[in-house]
Amino acid sequence: MTFIKLESLESIPEERRLSYQDLAISIFTVNQPKESKNLTRSECTYCETMIADWSTICPSCNVKFPICVASGKPIMDANQQWTCSRCKHNCLRVELVSFNNCPLCHHPISS
Ligand SMILES: [Zn+2]
Ligand SMILES: [Zn+2]
Repeated sequence: MTFIKLESLESIPEERRLSYQDLAISIFTVNQPKESKNLTRSECTYCETMIADWSTICPSCNVKFPICVASGKPIMDANQQWTCSRCKHNCLRVELVSFNNCPLCHHPISS
């Protein structure tokens, strides 16, 4: 009786651990393009084509993206776009975390 109990207790966590592993991998894969700061490709917000993150123009729909003056990367997500009220240049909000002033003209950042 005790032996059977132990055996069933051992087999269940093993199965669960495997399915949790699969789940973790699929969540990671789905979220990676948006969560990762080191992404190398981004999705065009207009036509959903995957384009290199240094590319400022979508090769598919020819949309031109504003350039982040802090990182040099194109800003493909309008929600990530911050525009300096003085010099009118653009920055990615994630890049502004380490700045208190506009990286270009040093105008104080107001959010
Ligand atoms: Zn496009
Ligand atoms: Zn500025």
